Order: sequence, then C-alpha cells, then structure tokens
Amino acid sequence: MQSASIPPVVLIIAGNDPTGGAGLAADIQAVSALGAHPAPVAAALTVQDTRDVSRVEPVDPVLVSEQADAVLADLPVAAVKLGLLASAAVGRAVAALLRAHPKLPLVVDPVLKAGGGETLAEEALIEVYRREIFPRATLITPNAAESRRFIPGTSDATALGAALLALGAAHVLIKGADEATPAVHNLFMSADGGRQEFTWPRLPGVYHGSGCTLASAAAALLALGETPAAAVSRAQDYTWKALQAGMPLGRGQFIPRRFPA
Ligand code: PLP
Repeated sequence: MQSASIPPVVLIIAGNDPTGGAGLAADIQAVSALGAHPAPVAAALTVQDTRDVSRVEPVDPVLVSEQADAVLADLPVAAVKLGLLASAAVGRAVAALLRAHPKLPLVVDPVLKAGGGETLAEEALIEVYRREIFPRATLITPNAAESRRFIPGTSDATALGAALLALGAAHVLIKGADEATPAVHNLFMSADGGRQEFTWPRLPGVYHGSGCTLASAAAALLALGETPAAAVSRAQDYTWKALQAGMPLGRGQFIPRRFPA
C-alpha cells in the first residue's frame, strides 16, 4: 500500500450512545466519512434511546488512560477529539495524558447535557475543563448554553467567546443551534483576533449527535492538515448536510446521515 493512501489517525475519547446517534459511533462515522481513521477510547457508557438518557457511567479513569496510552504508543495519532468525559476524575486523567503530548491538535466538545436536556456530566468537570483542558485545546466547540455554564454571568456571544479564549484555547466555535433564533448563528473566534460568524438555515427536526458530528469532522480535517478556520467551516457544512438528510430511525430525535448517499 502506498503511504499516500494511509489516512491520518484521530484519537477519540468520548462516551458510548447505544443508539449510534451521538457519542463514539457518531465520532467514528464522521471521522471515517472525512477520510481519517478513528481510534475510539470509551470514557463513559450511557443508557439511552433517541428520546431520553436514563443512565451515565463514567469509565474508570485508569482504564481510560490505559486505552489512550496504548493507541498513542502504537499509532501515529494526528489529532485528538474529546467528547463526553462525564466525571471530573476522567477529565483529570485525560488532561494528564494530553500534557504528555503537548503538540497534538486537540478538539474539545465539552458535553455537559444531552440534546433532550438530561445532565451527562458531573458539576466538578466544569472546573477541570476550565483549568486543565481548555488551556491545551486547539478548538473548543461549546453550544450557547454550555458557554454560559463555563462563563457565568455573561450572555453576549462575543464576550463569551473572548472569555473562553482567555482560558487558553486557541480557537472557539460557539454553536447557536440551542438558541431560540430563526436561523442558527455560530461564532468562530481565535486568540489571534480572528472572528467569523456563520449563519445556517434552521432545520425543522431535532437531532441526536449534531455536536459530536461537528467536532469529530473538525478533528478529522485538522488531522488531514487543514487550518482551524478551514476545518471549522467545512465541518459545519458537512454537519448541516448530515442533519438535513437525518433519519427517523427511532421514536425520538433524528439521527444524522453521516455517510452521504
Ligand atoms: N456523547 C454522548 C455519549 C451522548 O449521549 C450525547 C448526547 O446524548 C452527546 C455526546 C452529545 O450529543 P450532541 O452531539 O447532540 O451534543
């Protein structure tokens, strides 16, 4: 096999959603669809259907680190994507292993709640994100509600973006799909002063795993060598199309079609 055909590896540390709508399965599909190879590390297990989450179990932090270390010692990881970590202990273990690989591009989807509103993460994880994970991130992708949890007392999107960047991330994409606006406004801001607003027609459905899809697509594109600004733009386009073609597989939220027909 020629080396040109070998895809870059994306290490994904995230939770499992057994519907395949969100979590690791979503990440695996998005990373694969964009031409990278996913290396999935389970950080949490959930019990859920397309309507509700009924249980979240963080994986033993030592087991999370062992899984990731095995991959990092063997495969040429080109980017890392973090999804649901669920507990502060898992967050701290992941932060520690990232400190050993300071140059790897890192995309963080700081999952705190499910689309249906259920809490997925321990409150103490918020401080671990702020102090130990965001300072190391290439790109963080909170939605509007998550941004306000990390930066309490601020509601203006630009002020939220600036405050999130002040925690140390190089780039932030604040996603506005959870806001009651006619269109979806996503705000991309960079520590070097860059700022770009993206507006997307609001789709009629409710979707499971949209944030996972977007962050994983961005991680795959960074692994393929795109700039953060280009990766964020293309990842949004990919995600919007996957949602537009979303499938009513269960009795609740639509599941994105991450492999276009
Ligand atoms: N990861 C897991 C395991 C989940 O169950 C969920 C939501 O249910 C998420 C991540 C976040 O999903 P979304 O991409 O819709 O924000």
